[in-house]
Amino acid sequence: MTSFEELTTKERPTWCPGCGDWGILTALKKAIAELNLPKHQVVVVAGIGCSGHLPQWINTFGFHSLHGRALPVAQAIKLANHELNVIAVGGDGDGYGIGIGHFIHAMRRNVDITYIVHDNQIYGLTTGQASPTSEKGFKSKSTPHGVIEPPVNPISLALAADCSFVARGFAGDVPHLVKLITQAIQHKGFAFIDVLQPCVTFNYLNTFEYFYRRVYKLEEDESFDFTNKIEAFKRSLEWGERIPIGVFYKEERKIYEDELPQLSQMPLVKQKIDDINIEKLLEDMC
Ligand code: SF4
Repeated sequence: MTSFEELTTKERPTWCPGCGDWGILTALKKAIAELNLPKHQVVVVAGIGCSGHLPQWINTFGFHSLHGRALPVAQAIKLANHELNVIAVGGDGDGYGIGIGHFIHAMRRNVDITYIVHDNQIYGLTTGQASPTSEKGFKSKSTPHGVIEPPVNPISLALAADCSFVARGFAGDVPHLVKLITQAIQHKGFAFIDVLQPCVTFNYLNTFEYFYRRVYKLEEDESFDFTNKIEAFKRSLEWGERIPIGVFYKEERKIYEDELPQLSQMPLVKQKIDDINIEKLLEDMC
């Protein structure tokens, strides 16, 4: 077995021992293996934050993009070659802060990609500032008197933005998360999973223990119907003693790629481009 000292800098893990990120990485690898996806047909795109390291530890194509910009890159890759399985990963600060505009527009666009958010309710990489999903009253380096504003509710937001697959997972329940990621990758359309991912180093409130005591699975509640958006909205507002995980909402609707005549014959990357003249276009833009 290779010792830590023998590993190159690139091979050394930069996630803290016990971090919820490990559970997400394991679940994603298992989901890809269960679906038998050839690794050359999978691209994992990340933003910036602790979650941004994930593409380094998975044997697929990967792209470590800019803060909050995983979704524009992921959508561009999908439109360039819509035969690929494109999975974007990011954090709550990354995706629900600076990247929130991309989040909303990607969902209403319904490009066929999967988006997994490592939601640890704090900025971990920058050593512990309040994030968009930090709870009201949460004390951190940037909020010594407690967070004043209420947190972003990513599930409600996704439902309002017409996301066609909305789910929440928990990094402490990997088998359940594998099922969610598998369904999300198989879903034709934009599939979003917010994952409760404890930051064991900086978030003293939203710990594994905190979530183990509170989470319950929507699919174990027979009265819940994931095709009913009003019911999904009601469940999305639950946070406190009981926190739902599972699929909140799912619908089939046309994907963005199907509406583009340019993609109807074959992916853009396979099309001949040497007889395309863009001079007129460039002149019009000058
Ligand atoms: Fe995980 Fe927090 Fe460490 Fe980042 S700082 S690797 S989120 S435990």
